[in-house]
Amino acid sequence: MKDLLDFTHESRQVRVVFRPGAATTATAGEAAGLGLRRLLVVCGSHGAATARAVADSLGPACAGLHDGARMHVPVEVADRAVEAARAAGADGCVAVGGGSSIGLGKAIALRTGLPLIAVPSTYSGSEMTPVWGLTEHGAKRTGRDPVVLPRAVVYDPELTLSLPVPLSVTSGVNAIAHAVEALYAPDTSPLIALMAAEGVRAMATALPAVADAPDSPAARGQALYGAWLCGSCLGATTMGLHHKLCHVLGGTFGLPHADTHTVVLPYALAFNAPAVPDAVATLARALDTTDVPRALRDLAVRLGAPRSLAELGLKETDLTQAATETAGQAYANPRAVTADGALAVLRAAYEGVEPEFPAP
Ligand code: NAD
Repeated sequence: MKDLLDFTHESRQVRVVFRPGAATTATAGEAAGLGLRRLLVVCGSHGAATARAVADSLGPACAGLHDGARMHVPVEVADRAVEAARAAGADGCVAVGGGSSIGLGKAIALRTGLPLIAVPSTYSGSEMTPVWGLTEHGAKRTGRDPVVLPRAVVYDPELTLSLPVPLSVTSGVNAIAHAVEALYAPDTSPLIALMAAEGVRAMATALPAVADAPDSPAARGQALYGAWLCGSCLGATTMGLHHKLCHVLGGTFGLPHADTHTVVLPYALAFNAPAVPDAVATLARALDTTDVPRALRDLAVRLGAPRSLAELGLKETDLTQAATETAGQAYANPRAVTADGALAVLRAAYEGVEPEFPAP
């Protein structure tokens, strides 16, 4: 028999539509259901053609298209988008694209209170969270605010057919990382554990199928389904060491978001594993393995993902600063993180060795 149950679970309302073709067939209906009549569509420059198709599908409810999204939402990029929303007289926003586009939609929502509809094209999971991020003077600030949580999310696996395999793999492991940390978060719950296990199972099954046949609607659908579940876990819980390390590596050292998550995850989990046997057992069942950190590393490496922080361009001389910054911040983690502990995780990830850590 398990320990007595003890948890708090909060559900936030997000309407989710999941269907092939939904980006252009369901978004207008979602906007109408929210009573929105003048929507600004936001996207990045690469995703402008897809966003244009979504904008066209809105008909007269489209008040404009703004393609200024950039990675990590620089504050001046957010300023321009807010100005575009005001100039268009928008009463809502539709963000089409990956975490960067959705991040820009969230920045508009944060500043103006306008409701947001998200149409994601990667597996980042941002669409399911009330977390915003803004970068100013080289530092990324993040925060939680229910106003930035999309009111509706339109998942269309067809949008992800064009996501290149390397990006699909790292974006998918980025999603898995949300579920992994949700399993041992201080605010986890039995419902989160179910979503996390299913999200990890779906994504880990889908990624080899996507790599094998990137045009497969079934494989793409499974991956996006996994991304939805993993993103829901991220939105409902507080992340630990893994996300903090990646935040420092991305924010201070400019490392690419999804690649960094992919390299770091096996090592951060190996560090935490001795303190969270139940989470590890859940992951072992979901991945059908007896060694979860190795299985995660093998999955990514087998599909061609980068295997070390050195490969991503981190310098060995940066490790100590990254470790000090990570240990110096306050965040929930099942194992206490000293600068030495963070350095051990970072060094292993830097070298890309087999993930292995002694018990605490
Ligand atoms: P991204 O949105 O920057 O996209 C990565 C690249 O892929 C871009 O060049 C983009 O144009 C391209 N792309 C996106 N979809 C594509 C498609 N279907 N086909 C072809 N190319 C496509 O990256 P991301 O990994 O989706 O998101 C990362 C950002 O999101 C980071 O800034 C991260 O901090 C943020 N994020 C935030 C949260 C949150 O809860 N707030 C959660 C996860 C990620």
